[in-house]
Amino acid sequence: RTVYVNGEYLPETEAKVSIFDRAFLMADGVYEVTSVLDGKLIDFAGHSKRLARSLSELDMRAPCSDEDLLEIHRELVRANDITDGLVYLQVTRGSAGDRDFAFPDPETTEPTLVLFTQSKPGLAESPAAKSGIKVISVDDIRWGRRDIKTVQLLYPSMAKMMAKKAGADDAWMVEDGFVTEGSSNNAYIVKGGRIITRALSTDILHGITRAAVLRFAQEAQMEVEERSFTIAEALEADEAFITSASSFVMPVVELDGSAIGSGTPGPVASRLREIYLEESRKTAI
Ligand code: PLP
Repeated sequence: RTVYVNGEYLPETEAKVSIFDRAFLMADGVYEVTSVLDGKLIDFAGHSKRLARSLSELDMRAPCSDEDLLEIHRELVRANDITDGLVYLQVTRGSAGDRDFAFPDPETTEPTLVLFTQSKPGLAESPAAKSGIKVISVDDIRWGRRDIKTVQLLYPSMAKMMAKKAGADDAWMVEDGFVTEGSSNNAYIVKGGRIITRALSTDILHGITRAAVLRFAQEAQMEVEERSFTIAEALEADEAFITSASSFVMPVVELDGSAIGSGTPGPVASRLREIYLEESRKTAI
């Protein structure tokens, strides 16, 4: 596999980053995951806009222009012959050659930029979309700036492991009685035809897929309510689903061991998945 590190395209075995890099020592870095369908990037503009926001919220420098980023994404997709898959991008504050809690001088410290691809043949035809997935609820004990897409992913990884141990696929995190989001996705329920999902704030990541799906739902005259919901309310819902760049729209059919609605993917989630895939393919670049 060819990867990209700080201006160079290299075989993955030759790619190197300093052991003093602040992402390695302090999770001081941000990332994006953009999906690829038919060799084209889905919603690249959305991802590059969120990356710019994550960087600016952490007073980090952009490593290059959006045009350069697009070019690197495309070159990796081409070099690795990706039809369906993902492009992972990470920008870190770099390294001043030692360990120090204080940020290094941005004038003299270069950010680290790393990109690699993951091939996922048939990404859009995932069998899980037909069967739906099972989730469990776990406490949300993450930090308070979940709107910044940092590489600080230890708790989401632990939540995923708790789900696996319980025989489920993923975890919905709960804070003060309300669902925040999934371990790596936004969470939704459907009741009486209304799509309900938590409003944007610093409590959740502002999903690029979420923004697109809510826009498509409104264009299709579906009702959207942006508000928090509880696990008890989700258990009484007609349907549930998640969204993310890698899973698109994925039905949730079981929560904490109880079936949601009919226990099979619901019509709203299935329709939204279809619309999302169709519309986002049209604007893929
Ligand atoms: N919420 C969290 C915590 C995530 O990690 C992700 C994606 O990685 C999402 C939501 C979904 O965001 P997007 O649709 O931009 O992939």
